Amino acid sequence: MANPDDERNGVARDEAEAAVRTLLRWAGEDPSREGLLDTPKRVVDAYGDWFSGYGDDPRAYLERTFEEVAGYDEMIVLRDIQFESHCEHHMAPIIGRAHVGYLPDGKVVGISKLARVVEAYARRFQVQEKMTAQIAAVIEDVLKPRGVGVVVEASHECMTTRGVHKRGVSMVTSKMLGGFRDDARTRQEFLRFIGDPRG
Ligand SMILES: [Zn+2]
Repeated sequence: MANPDDERNGVARDEAEAAVRTLLRWAGEDPSREGLLDTPKRVVDAYGDWFSGYGDDPRAYLERTFEEVAGYDEMIVLRDIQFESHCEHHMAPIIGRAHVGYLPDGKVVGISKLARVVEAYARRFQVQEKMTAQIAAVIEDVLKPRGVGVVVEASHECMTTRGVHKRGVSMVTSKMLGGFRDDARTRQEFLRFIGDPRG
């Protein structure tokens, strides 16, 4: 049995598990049959993992920077950052990858930190457009680079497994700030680095 004192964001664990049992009953199942006995517990554990981003501060990942980079001021790109998120409309998985680039202005961040930032936003209920903008905004805000580019490509299971049932489609969103927005050559260089046909 779950510890009844175990709560998260003001919701008791028992209450969260009861909600899963309600959905199982609603779908036509008997939550008391053997194969489903531990399912509410597993689902709540999985939610703890999938939505850990709410307890994460993306700004904090960007606050430790390196300034001794021998004057390096060219574009830095981390591409193919795989992520799993969930759409806020259906709570269904969004599976995709993000490409993040910036033009440093003296301050450079450890490359793994960009992946952490993507993860902190992905592990929440999301809208792809919003997530793309959030990643770009926090990099601009904390690192104050000369430009930021974020491209996100993802498939949405609310579209592939229900509704219009279109498999193999992915949605591409991008947010360009500073030099990535104003300078076509910078933007193209970024798009070329990430293998985007627009580059
Ligand atoms: Zn959806």
